[in-house]
Amino acid sequence: MRSAFVTLDGARWVPGCLTAIDSSACTGRGRYFKVCSREVMHLHGVGDPGELLGACGGEDDDFDGELNRMIMVVDHAGRCIGCGACGHLCPKDCQTHVAADKVAASSDETNPGERDHVRP
Ligand code: SF4
Repeated sequence: MRSAFVTLDGARWVPGCLTAIDSSACTGRGRYFKVCSREVMHLHGVGDPGELLGACGGEDDDFDGELNRMIMVVDHAGRCIGCGACGHLCPKDCQTHVAADKVAASSDETNPGERDHVRP
């Protein structure tokens, strides 16, 4: 996997891939979900006591009354191109971005798209 690139003006650029979101800090407002063109993360419902209920099917989805709160979940990490757009929008600083060369090293052991990045 290539982990460093250059911009059009020749500057070196290393993608910073979104690998995790701190669910204890996430307020589930979904602001940065809208800027990601790669569908790396989705809003998930959380019931009691902190049980993940699954991806939200729409604004009115209350998971049959079990919904306690919403959190953003990195559920398709392998799709991330490390553009960094989402990192500028999180007001709670709950995202973890990792340099692509570090992600490439760890993905030799595990498929990043299949890992569970939730820390409920
Ligand atoms: S870094 Fe870019 S591609 Fe990756 S999750 Fe954030 S917005 Fe999506």
